[in-house]
Amino acid sequence: MFDANVLPTIPYMNPAPSTDRPLSLKREGDGLLIEWADGVRTHTPWRTLRGACPCATCEDDRKKPPNPFRVLSDREVAAGPPSPVRMKAVGAYAYQIEWNDGHSTGIYTLDALRRVGTVLPLA
Ligand SMILES: [Zn+2]
Repeated sequence: MFDANVLPTIPYMNPAPSTDRPLSLKREGDGLLIEWADGVRTHTPWRTLRGACPCATCEDDRKKPPNPFRVLSDREVAAGPPSPVRMKAVGAYAYQIEWNDGHSTGIYTLDALRRVGTVLPLA
């Protein structure tokens, strides 16, 4: 059984020409820690990352006015807080994240991952 708490560090196999390519991605606390080639480290809570899902369905949902009567689906309740089940590289510039709620159509570009993350102070 896959243990979501031991998400392996994903080596970055296809370096992009940009200095903003990640050297490593790993689970830290309740989010994703990325070490970038230019020395910057960013951390993004899973909830933020899930909420920023770039797929067409989620983009459409975000454009709709908030529904005050929206309740969590059974599946969302069962899944609990957002957490990734799997992350895989898509080409040289993006990662696909499969979430514990079963959603997996979001392709996060490196650019998006860099922008959504909070830059951590230098260690
Ligand atoms: Zn989505």
